Amino acid sequence: MSKRIAVVGAGVGGLSAAARLAHDGYEVDVWEKLPQCGGRASLLAEKGFRIDMGPSFVLMPGFYKEVFDYCGEEMADYLDLRALETHYRIFYPDGTRLNVYGDPERTKAELERIEPGSARGYDAFIAETARIYRDVEPLLYKCFTLKDLANPALWPLVTKLRVWENVWQLACRYFQDERLRYAFVFEAMFIGVSPFQAPAFYSIITYADQVQKVLHSMGGMYQIPLALERMAAKFGAKFHYGAEVKGLRGDGDGVVLDFGKDQFRADRAVVNADYAHTQGDLLQRRLPHWKHSCSVFLIYWGLKRKVEGLEHHNLFFSGDLPRNMAEIFDRKVIPADPSFYIHVPTVTDPSLAPEGKDILYVLIPVSNLDGSADDIHAHEQRLRQLVVDKVKQVCGVDVNELIEVERTFYPQDFVGRYNVKYGATFGLAHSLLQSAFFRPANLDARIKGLYYTGASTQPGGGLPVVMASSRIVADLINGKG
Ligand SMILES: Cc1cc2nc3c(=O)[nH]c(=O)nc-3n(C[C@H](O)[C@H](O)[C@H](O)COP(=O)(O)OP(=O)(O)OC[C@H]3O[C@@H](n4cnc5c(N)ncnc54)[C@H](O)[C@@H]3O)c2cc1C
Repeated sequence: MSKRIAVVGAGVGGLSAAARLAHDGYEVDVWEKLPQCGGRASLLAEKGFRIDMGPSFVLMPGFYKEVFDYCGEEMADYLDLRALETHYRIFYPDGTRLNVYGDPERTKAELERIEPGSARGYDAFIAETARIYRDVEPLLYKCFTLKDLANPALWPLVTKLRVWENVWQLACRYFQDERLRYAFVFEAMFIGVSPFQAPAFYSIITYADQVQKVLHSMGGMYQIPLALERMAAKFGAKFHYGAEVKGLRGDGDGVVLDFGKDQFRADRAVVNADYAHTQGDLLQRRLPHWKHSCSVFLIYWGLKRKVEGLEHHNLFFSGDLPRNMAEIFDRKVIPADPSFYIHVPTVTDPSLAPEGKDILYVLIPVSNLDGSADDIHAHEQRLRQLVVDKVKQVCGVDVNELIEVERTFYPQDFVGRYNVKYGATFGLAHSLLQSAFFRPANLDARIKGLYYTGASTQPGGGLPVVMASSRIVADLINGKG
């Protein structure tokens, strides 16, 4: 067996691949550009605040558990994942509020308040998305190639997964009130795609957050990469931080990583760095006309005291969602009236801030940098003020007077910090023609021994699915794929 494996990137994809392969007995070296692990799931630690910079929702916990099971470890020895009682609170521009709970009966009571009779629609919606979930879940552990299109066993999926429908159209079949339709489609934005364009099968994310619960990682989301790093190290993986790979090339049966001055040869390389960056910058290949996900503008606040009125997860919808989405995905301008999200992890986990203080993390979806017509910096004060005003409406306080720490993160920072092409926060877009067979495969067609894991490869973005991509890679390397 070829023993030496290089992993490029210590994001969740690279860390979980490293853990699996080290467990399987390979000699694993992880090379990461940043001084620490986590990639897009990074941590901002300042003045006693521990602010997660990226993911905030733990969904589909079975995919997390699978990584630990694979390595013969107990997830509970590494992570303390706790289900939230209130999954999230939605604030509509007309003043309506909707709480989505872990208990579906309580959620249905909320829905009935807005659209009488909608509890029945909710049950039917969940039944349909559960069926889609059952069909899709096993596919998330497989690497497809265009050749699979010729496999008749897969053809029934076209109808089963209703590939001609988008998540918005699916929700419209079950809910009449636009506010409820919005409530059951916004999850498409978790993978950076418009609900008016995301194929209906991505409603599995809505199913997951309704039925499988929304969890929080106690101690913060950064515990997740730390746990994977610890597990990989336990099996002998070695980590090299501050080590940016500048080029990759095949070398007989192996792959060479080029660091500029130094080189490292491995029998296999698993690249977790953004796929478009890898193809364009590391392999010097011409990039096809890919569509990229949206980007986000982030504001992180550490507050001097707690505020009332917000839940752990809070969504604020634009007064005109179709226009908001068109601005981000079609017109590529900074939204006039954006939807946004506020994460207040200190509601569940006060340990993340000094005693009596709060964290507010604000995420505003904006267009990526591929042909963007606007400069975020020209709009950031307006966007910030809009959030300050909404927080004042909801919490009755001027957040400006409470700020102890403030940091911002722009689309350009995704390029500079993580090498993510066009600052597309969630990687390649999850459009129909960039999903499954059409999404980049987890192994290179030209260089033997070169594999890919991460958000822009199969099966796609989001922590659980990225973890599944590392399973695909481990299976391919072990000759089981
Ligand atoms: C703001 C935000 C909110 C999100 N919310 C959620 C959520 O709530 N729930 C959820 O499940 N998912 C969420 N996601 C998505 C999730 O974070 C990503 O899908 C996931 O972290 C991507 O992991 P990855 O391993 O593919 O890539 P990355 O995290 O980007 O890891 C790749 C690593 O490679 C390194 N690298 C790049 N180029 C090189 C090079 N040349 N040499 C060496 N190293 C290199 C990078 O520094 C990085 O550490 C969110 C993402 C963001 C940014």
